[in-house]
Amino acid sequence: GLNDISVKGLANKTGNERFAYDSYRRFIQMFSDVVMGLEKNKFEYVLEKIKESKHLKYDFELTANDLMEVIEVYKAFYKENLGQSFPQDPRVQLKLAIEAVFKSWDNPRAIYYRRMNDIPYDWGTAVNVQSMVFGNMGDTSGTGVAFTRNPANGTKEVYGEYLINAQGEDVVAGIRTPEAISKLAQDLPSAYDEFIKISNILEKHYKDMQDMEFTIEEGKLYFLQTRNGKRTAQAALQIACDMVDEGLITPKEAIKRLDAKALEQLLHPKFDETSLKNATKIGSALPASPGAAAGKIYFTASAAKEAHKRKEKVILVRLETSPEDIEGMHIAQGTLTARGGMTSHAAVVARGIGTCCISGCSQMEIDEENKVFTLGGHTFNEGDYLSLDGTKGDIYLGNIKTVPASIDGNFGRIMAWADSFRKLEIRTNADTINDAKMAKEFGAQGIGLCRSEHMFFQEQRIHNMRKMILARNEAERINALKALLEYQREDYIGLYTIMNGLPVTVRLIDPPLHEFLPKEDSQIELLARDMNMSVEEIHYQCDLLKEENPMMGHRGCRLAVTYPEIARMQARAIIEAAIYVKNSSKIEVTPEIMIPLIGEIKELQYVKTEVVNEITKVLEENNIDNIDYKIGTMIEVPRAALLADEIASEAEFFSFGTNDLTQMTFGLSRDDSAKFLDSYYSKKIYESDPFSRLDEHGVGKLVEMAVLKGRSIRKDIKLGICGEHGGDPSSIAFCHKLGLTYVSCSPYRVPIARLAAAQAALEE
Ligand code: PEP
Ligand code: MG
Repeated sequence: GLNDISVKGLANKTGNERFAYDSYRRFIQMFSDVVMGLEKNKFEYVLEKIKESKHLKYDFELTANDLMEVIEVYKAFYKENLGQSFPQDPRVQLKLAIEAVFKSWDNPRAIYYRRMNDIPYDWGTAVNVQSMVFGNMGDTSGTGVAFTRNPANGTKEVYGEYLINAQGEDVVAGIRTPEAISKLAQDLPSAYDEFIKISNILEKHYKDMQDMEFTIEEGKLYFLQTRNGKRTAQAALQIACDMVDEGLITPKEAIKRLDAKALEQLLHPKFDETSLKNATKIGSALPASPGAAAGKIYFTASAAKEAHKRKEKVILVRLETSPEDIEGMHIAQGTLTARGGMTSHAAVVARGIGTCCISGCSQMEIDEENKVFTLGGHTFNEGDYLSLDGTKGDIYLGNIKTVPASIDGNFGRIMAWADSFRKLEIRTNADTINDAKMAKEFGAQGIGLCRSEHMFFQEQRIHNMRKMILARNEAERINALKALLEYQREDYIGLYTIMNGLPVTVRLIDPPLHEFLPKEDSQIELLARDMNMSVEEIHYQCDLLKEENPMMGHRGCRLAVTYPEIARMQARAIIEAAIYVKNSSKIEVTPEIMIPLIGEIKELQYVKTEVVNEITKVLEENNIDNIDYKIGTMIEVPRAALLADEIASEAEFFSFGTNDLTQMTFGLSRDDSAKFLDSYYSKKIYESDPFSRLDEHGVGKLVEMAVLKGRSIRKDIKLGICGEHGGDPSSIAFCHKLGLTYVSCSPYRVPIARLAAAQAALEE
């Protein structure tokens, strides 16, 4: 602490009046900002005004007398804004400063950071009290920040910058341009040599890249702090591989310390750093699917497709997405929705195809009809530019330059190490040939969830799917199913061929009906023509199918109970495709047929019987005695978890559908929770989004119970997870602990899951 009296002592003792008063004005400024919450900029403004009046450019040109003047203005400003004088008692100064550090644990940035990094609230924070050293004592003093390796690309070189005659905050403030650390060898050679020597010792000691802050006070070097440095994903892999090659760490240690989530950075485009620095952020929402995207705004999938044909880059902006948006999402650089959570249609689909998506942006006011929305005080029309950072959930004005994804040899090395340690199998959630190919390249060991309703997203297919949904009677439905059978058989042949003998789990159709009903007039007219119905009749049929709670409505196995012909069609397609692939390509497949949304053993028995009977028919028609297949179920309704022992008597495998299991256990809509969860975070009721990170405490209990009950009846039951949590590192660690067979996640998360599974095994 400094006050009006001790500042004089400091000046006398050091014989450097300018230094003493510069330190005092810095202290008032920093204390007011960090401890009292007065905006730093306001003080900078005062300082600028005084410099201007004296025709000075740099802070260090201010004399001791100038600084005394600054201090008086600062103190007056402090009193005016805070209604009390700047405290003169050093004990009061210290106490308030310590309290400020503890309080920082509760600020919104810290809450956000903890949520992103899985840090529990109850860890709390610590306070270090250090004596001051001064880099502002003249030309043999200075201060800087440096890393032992390059944090952007991992190159082994000391990387950093410093300023002579300055304190730490000047380096970051950017008022003077700092020098590259290598120049310190000329300015203050002995301090530089010592700095290099100590930084080597620190890196060897901590066995990790260090981020160090130092000050030189009249030629003497002080280290203020050292910590493991933050780095890009590319640098993280480079450093890990180099350190293994240097013999500093083992592959096990390398794997343990990598940040699995950060791998996503490597697989998606990101913003060019320099362009991002000049960008204006206008809002943020849920980081539903990672990557950076910039393009022109379009409000419908069809307008987006037209623009794409004109070679424009497109951002699709929707209130929420539905199956007819899929092609638009596919060609768009990114998708932004006003509604929906981390497991909403937009989020799940975007993650599957690997494009950027920000969902649940409730600050946005969107008028889809008039093609306009407002956000952060700006109004956007069709064709305006917008940029999205799906990794962080940040939304920017304009067209920010992006740089493409890049993976190199280090990635393969790290993945091979991870595979040698992990016990969990990693499968993928894939519904299309492209998803499956991508996932296989990323190392997926099979398909853990093929959402078969997602196979009908193309224009013609969704039309036929709707004909089936809207059929007025069984005959019409069976007719519509004929077209779907052709698609299904062809798709399964494709998936089996790509997976080349690896397991493929197909889930029977599970369409929340509100996602599939036609909305646009043109689609309704087409259906009316094709189904020999009037437009009114189509509207009438749609009205009949409308539900108050579609997520708890006529979906999952309930659809197969009402219309078993749908399940029969799918069973036929799954098995006919397996026979075809076996005969034509000699690929042995063991299809795993998964029945969704079971809550009652009799539901499972009913649907299973239909499926088995149809399979028997197919085998007879093809003169085949037997084919390997498994029938299992999803555990996604709490009742199924409670009665998992009964269910295991009929199911050969369980796959935990933790999206619905979370929705129904919390009684929290997966599509609407984004609207109010922020209050839950700020009030510390929830520390994380239960749809992103599995709630071990509650939902996890149901999962654990179902695992134990399932195994008690069927010892070798295959157990997996296919909710979005299957790609989340902390949830994967939980799955490892429960001894699940596999986790299944979207293709771009497969590498993350491989690494996280290895980390979980090593942690054990
Ligand atoms: C789930 O509920 O976790 C699941 C995988 O199914 P869907 O997301 O398709 O409802
Ligand atoms: Mg589900």
